Amino acid sequence: MASSLKIMIGDTIEVISGRDRGTRGEVMRLLPRKRRVIVRGVNVRKKHQRQIQAAGRTMSPGIIQFEAPIHISNVMLVCPKCDEPARVGYQIEGKNRQRICRKCEAVIKGG
Ligand SMILES: [Zn+2]
Repeated sequence: MASSLKIMIGDTIEVISGRDRGTRGEVMRLLPRKRRVIVRGVNVRKKHQRQIQAAGRTMSPGIIQFEAPIHISNVMLVCPKCDEPARVGYQIEGKNRQRICRKCEAVIKGG
C-alpha cells in the first residue's frame, strides 16, 4: 500500500499558504510520516557553512541553499489539464487506483 499522501515524487504542486504561496515546483522527496514534502525551489533556506576540514583539506565556507520540508496541508497538486491546484480523488480501474482531478476528472499520472 502506497503512502496516504496524495502527492508523489515528480508531481508539480502549488503552495497555497505561507511565504511561498503561489509558487510551483516539482516534488523531490516525500516524508510521509511527517506528512511533509520537499519541493524544488519552495521553502528555500540558507545555511551559512563554517569552514570545515575534510580529508585534510580546508573547504571554503559559503552559503548553502536547501529546500526545507513543507507540510502537505500547505500544498496542492496541480492538475496538468486545468493547470490549477486541484482537489484529488481516486478512481478505481481494475486493480489500479488512479488519481483524478475532482474538477475536470482528468487522470493525474505520477509515481
Ligand atoms: Zn483538472
